[in-house]
Amino acid sequence: MTHSAAELRRSDSGTGPRLVVAVDGPSGSGKSSAARGVATALGLRYLDTGATYRALTWWLLEHEVDVSDPAAVAGQAQLRAVEIGTDPGEQWVRIDGIDVTVEIRNRRVSNVVSLVASVPEVRRQLIALQREIIAAAVESGGGIVAEGRDIGTVVAPDADVKIFLTASEQVRAERRAAELAARQADGQVDLAADEAPSAAVTRLEQNRRDRRDAAQTQLAADAVEIDATNLGLDEVIARITALAAAKLAEA
Ligand code: C5P
Repeated sequence: MTHSAAELRRSDSGTGPRLVVAVDGPSGSGKSSAARGVATALGLRYLDTGATYRALTWWLLEHEVDVSDPAAVAGQAQLRAVEIGTDPGEQWVRIDGIDVTVEIRNRRVSNVVSLVASVPEVRRQLIALQREIIAAAVESGGGIVAEGRDIGTVVAPDADVKIFLTASEQVRAERRAAELAARQADGQVDLAADEAPSAAVTRLEQNRRDRRDAAQTQLAADAVEIDATNLGLDEVIARITALAAAKLAEA
């Protein structure tokens, strides 16, 4: 039996097909746009797990906690309440009730988030939250596309579809720089606090983040690897959507 995208969209009654799609990969591989696109195409929820690490990092910077001190970071992680929306068309993230959807994208957060994410207590807390969100989406019907670094291996090892999205270092650096420029053009980035970096600086910062994230960025044995170096976003979305539809047809 096959399920069309329209049938999937009608599945929010709680009785429709359930589907968990994991999209992992390094920064700048395009996984956020791809995961959002797949969720929209299939009428699923969407979870940006990176945003949960970013929200905690924003709070720590705002309260001048030393993010290179794992004990200080771990102590705060237990006390903070992170909430995140799962509508692919309207994302938001809050920490202790404060909306930080825009602020978490600033470079000052990007440049230290990996330090915070490498603290075991932080991962324990946020992975528990991510699992609850995934379970709630599946319970309410339809399922979810969750993206990050360790979804297919740690957060949701039983995911129905696992994708590992990559792209060349050059293409990823270009995408990151273009994203930041677009946000600045939209007035979403505070220029005084976060001046536009050159492509070379973006690349250096990204390489440093990739190195720090290497331990978390895991390719699951049963993941399908997609190299997006020469693929447009629509093509990536179409490939993942086709894999998800095939999985549903098997069920
Ligand atoms: O995906 P994004 O680049 O917004 O993630 C921000 C950071 O959060 C990553 O650089 C990584 O340190 C951390 N992260 C993680 N595990 C995830 C998602 C993100 O450690 N599943």
